[in-house]
Amino acid sequence: MISFELTDEQKEIRDWVHSFAEKEIRPVAHQYDESEEFPWPIVKKAAEVGLYGTEFLEQTFGDGTGIMPALVAEELTWGCAGIALAIQGTGLPVAAIFSQGTPDQISTWIPACFGTPEKPALGAFAVTEPDAGSDVSSMKTRAIRKNGDWVINGQKIFITNGGIADVHVVVAAVEPELGTRGQASFVVLPGNKGLRMGKKEKKMGIRASHTAEVLLEDCTIPLENVLGGVEKLEARLKRAREGNHQRSSVALKTFELSRPIVGAQALGIARAAFEFALQYAKERKQFGRTLIENEAIAFMLADMATEIEATRALIWRALWEGRSGGEFKKAEGSMAKLKAGEVAVKVTEQAIQICGGYGYIRDFPVEKWHRDAKIYTLFEGTSEIQRLVISRALAAGCAGGPSRLRLPFSPARATP
Ligand SMILES: Cc1cc2nc3c(=O)[nH]c(=O)nc-3n(C[C@H](O)[C@H](O)[C@H](O)COP(=O)(O)OP(=O)(O)OC[C@H]3O[C@@H](n4cnc5c(N)ncnc54)[C@H](O)[C@@H]3O)c2cc1C
Repeated sequence: MISFELTDEQKEIRDWVHSFAEKEIRPVAHQYDESEEFPWPIVKKAAEVGLYGTEFLEQTFGDGTGIMPALVAEELTWGCAGIALAIQGTGLPVAAIFSQGTPDQISTWIPACFGTPEKPALGAFAVTEPDAGSDVSSMKTRAIRKNGDWVINGQKIFITNGGIADVHVVVAAVEPELGTRGQASFVVLPGNKGLRMGKKEKKMGIRASHTAEVLLEDCTIPLENVLGGVEKLEARLKRAREGNHQRSSVALKTFELSRPIVGAQALGIARAAFEFALQYAKERKQFGRTLIENEAIAFMLADMATEIEATRALIWRALWEGRSGGEFKKAEGSMAKLKAGEVAVKVTEQAIQICGGYGYIRDFPVEKWHRDAKIYTLFEGTSEIQRLVISRALAAGCAGGPSRLRLPFSPARATP
């Protein structure tokens, strides 16, 4: 049976996270957007109240319905996307460890990503390189086995929490000739002198989130720091050499898990902008009547509300589908992320329009929401790549059918 009615526990957590966003995040959102500093005091507060850490992770992912992480993401991002990402960015390396790690690795390294309430830590997931963005198969970072260790060399760019994280999960090629099938994820722990932060990026939006280059120079880590373990990696490489591919690359597996939640983050921005624009349209008077009394404005608000509801339904559906941690059959994660990113951009743009000139001024929050929203059509797979993944799933579903779909690209390269 399907129900959209939230349980009492879900409502309680959603309301609790919302009040944290309202009291602790919203009031400082503008300040961090201007200063572009990492919001450590807010991350610490989140850890202190129990909103950041393995316990909260278990509580949100363990409720069986799958949608709790989306409720949390939507509320935090409603407060501020940059600060929410400072709190939730660690979720990406955690998803990598969870989806690829052995039970021992999961129980050791996931807590290490969060640290303790007294001293919270951060995690980073490093895939992107200067010449390997959407096309992860052209990754140049190499991991070579040497004297019983892994030695990693390479350059990663645009990494959330890059260089300031305690745990870095780095994707590197072990056998580059096998493309993404020859790649593996490696865990680099604090104090490793072979990993350092390069350039810190100055961004259009989500400025409270830290984005930087990560440089790996003879970064030496123990053999057991490969996610899944050496034996499993060797078996996987052997299968790939023999042409027996598993369906997903290591990076793609991680992104499949995280995409609907990233979609929920985009939804939080859209909702914030919609609520603000609705209120403004009810209060602002021109020509002797409120803005909402003009059909042009009222219909715009109607479209915004409809798109927000449709997006939430798609996100919840995707999470419900993937609740057992499995892969999506119809690229539901990509659908949710694609829709949410594009809706966030559109709705925040419409909110600026409804606020008129004020919407363009930085004293109003709407221009920031628009800048923040744009990242959601770019990272964790651009909108074009989501369409590629969705169409690949469609093509696979049509195989053997009467009207077989042929695509003008190689599905094997449809990476994050
Ligand atoms: C703020 C921020 C945070 C990030 N955080 C992380 C992180 O934590 N970890 C990490 O590994 N990466 C991170 N990234 C990197 C992000 O995932 C990449 O920027 C993204 O995957 C796109 O890669 P690219 O920038 O190289 O663009 P490109 O791949 O060069 O794409 C450029 C354009 O071409 C289009 N395009 C490319 N290939 C195709 C195709 N086959 N068909 C149709 N269109 C195509 C794209 O959609 C895009 O419009 C982050 C980026 C930013 C900006």
